[in-house]
Amino acid sequence: MKHLPPVIFHRRSILAVFICVAVIVLQLVFLRPLDKQDVVQEPVQLVTNKQDLILPPITLDKEEKPRIEDFYIQEQAIVSKDTQAGPVKQENTVIVEEELPISPLIEVKPEKYGTSKIVIIIDDVGINHKMSEATVNFNEPLTLAFLPYGEHTQDFINRAKQKKHEVMVHFPMEPMDDTVNPGPNAARVGMTELELKNLFETELSKLYGFDGVNNHMGSRFTQDHFGMSAFMDVLKEKDLFFVDSKTIGNSVGASTAAEKGVANLTRDVFLDHVETPEFVNSALLKLEKAALDKGYAVAIGHPKEVTLNALAAWIPDAQSRGFEIVRAKDLIEEIQLSATNKMDAGEKTALLKSY
Ligand SMILES: [Zn+2]
Repeated sequence: MKHLPPVIFHRRSILAVFICVAVIVLQLVFLRPLDKQDVVQEPVQLVTNKQDLILPPITLDKEEKPRIEDFYIQEQAIVSKDTQAGPVKQENTVIVEEELPISPLIEVKPEKYGTSKIVIIIDDVGINHKMSEATVNFNEPLTLAFLPYGEHTQDFINRAKQKKHEVMVHFPMEPMDDTVNPGPNAARVGMTELELKNLFETELSKLYGFDGVNNHMGSRFTQDHFGMSAFMDVLKEKDLFFVDSKTIGNSVGASTAAEKGVANLTRDVFLDHVETPEFVNSALLKLEKAALDKGYAVAIGHPKEVTLNALAAWIPDAQSRGFEIVRAKDLIEEIQLSATNKMDAGEKTALLKSY
């Protein structure tokens, strides 16, 4: 009986040590990622102190998503596949860029570039109602591209225009991956010219109040000169511009538009196919570089909380550094004007020499 208490004490000690070890292991397993995540979520250099500009967190209730939301989710996969650079490869590339100091190095040099212009297109609007609401109510005017098959899309378009957003239609086109569904009434390779033109006419007639069209998916269809020619004929007839979302490197969108005399732009940067704040911020940095390089650049993002939050912080910061967020239509007109002026000067010189 004398020896019983020390034995119990010894067992309790072992138990105590075991609990301590268990607590340390649990900390290592669960707390480390949280710490990391906290660091990652801090918007680092790109975000100014204007915290009031950041949107309140928006939680998505999966049950509220319409059935058609599946198409929206699926597009994210095809974007990575189509650009022939998987998410890992793209992410690595961007992480290298992110190691550079951001704001101090990006300064607009007016004498060389003038004001660099940036178009921010948000695709797939009108499908997920909660995020479409948040996008339409976004304070800064953006370019919103609406899928023609969403519910209440025209209501969203009307309100988007009241909020001074530019409006486009986001036309579903056949992707390379047969298992990915671009949604109903997509343009597909193999359809006749008549079928295609009827499809474009019908779908584009369902909505009004938009100035241009870009492609939803379409990594197969946008490589097809025959199909894209039929598409451009309809755009030309309706006086609509085209933005090639460039979901595949071999897209003939821009060249076919040029052949048919359709005003067009091409996407430079996808903002959010990896849904993390650091990826979106890095993509915005890439966008700034592209805009500095050629005087303008076109970005495509999606109605996601991470994207809208990053844009809310980035836009005033970028504007303070000389970047201008513009409508696609205004940029196209400016590029056309600039090209015409250059052409006129050349033509004048040629004419003078001929006398
Ligand atoms: Zn899309």
